[in-house]
Amino acid sequence: MNLFDLSGRLALVTGASKGIGYAVADALASAGARIVLNARDETRLEQARAELAAKGYDVRTAAFDVTDPDAVTAGIEAIETDIGPIDILVNNAGMQHRTPLQDFPLEAWRKIVATNIDSVYLVGQAVGRRMIPRGRGKIINIGSVQSEMARPGIAPYTATKGAVKMLTKGMATDWARYGIQVNGIGPGYFKTELNAALVADEAFSGWLANRTPAGRWGDVQELAGAAIFLASDASSFVNGHILYVDGGITASL
Ligand code: NDP
Repeated sequence: MNLFDLSGRLALVTGASKGIGYAVADALASAGARIVLNARDETRLEQARAELAAKGYDVRTAAFDVTDPDAVTAGIEAIETDIGPIDILVNNAGMQHRTPLQDFPLEAWRKIVATNIDSVYLVGQAVGRRMIPRGRGKIINIGSVQSEMARPGIAPYTATKGAVKMLTKGMATDWARYGIQVNGIGPGYFKTELNAALVADEAFSGWLANRTPAGRWGDVQELAGAAIFLASDASSFVNGHILYVDGGITASL
């Protein structure tokens, strides 16, 4: 028995046209899952699909805005009708907005809360309602080291990622009885477009190397093991856990 085999499972990954979502989709496909990639920009989504399909993976796309309740309902309905029941959901779509809190605009607050928290509630609920009668399912929410710790200039992001951690525990608590495992991954610092400003900032990279026990940025491929574990039978009695993949940041001062 291969505890990590995802053959025959269908995985929906939100925000999967690039960055961490794309890497997680790639990882789940490498373990045998069929994949549905979600994001808003259809051109970029199709590029991502074609890249993964070229590796021999079974990949489809579903473009919708994860902050729009009607679009989420229609998007999940279409996936389940046209492709099949979703066995694995990865709530990954998210955004960053860097501004000191005293200057943070209300519109930006509303947008980051909608993108990082409403999305987990909306997509999680729409998929969870379908998993419950089936008596099985895996949901992975992407938090952050900011689920635990703040940094200057990103207070609202920190609030949203703290909320993702607690929503993960709440979802796990409500749905474990239905055979659904809900867990989270807390990535440290990875070189993606979301972090482009930090990657370009040599002083930040120097600080990060000193602050991280592993002494470096993470490579998105290093999230593969955590994603496959939490999506597979290997985690059948793991509920409401946040698995930090951060080179030791949350382990140290
Ligand atoms: P990117 O900015 O590289 O990618 C974000 C993805 O989300 C894109 O595919 C984007 O596509 C999609 N997206 C954004 N808004 C929406 C929306 N409303 N509806 C549907 N899709 C959306 O981000 P990362 O890969 O860096 O981050 C992914 C997740 O990981 C986020 O939740 C982030 O907070 C978290 N994270 C990232 C870390 C890092 O070091 N990079 C560290 C810790 C956590 P499109 O714009 O076309 O919709």
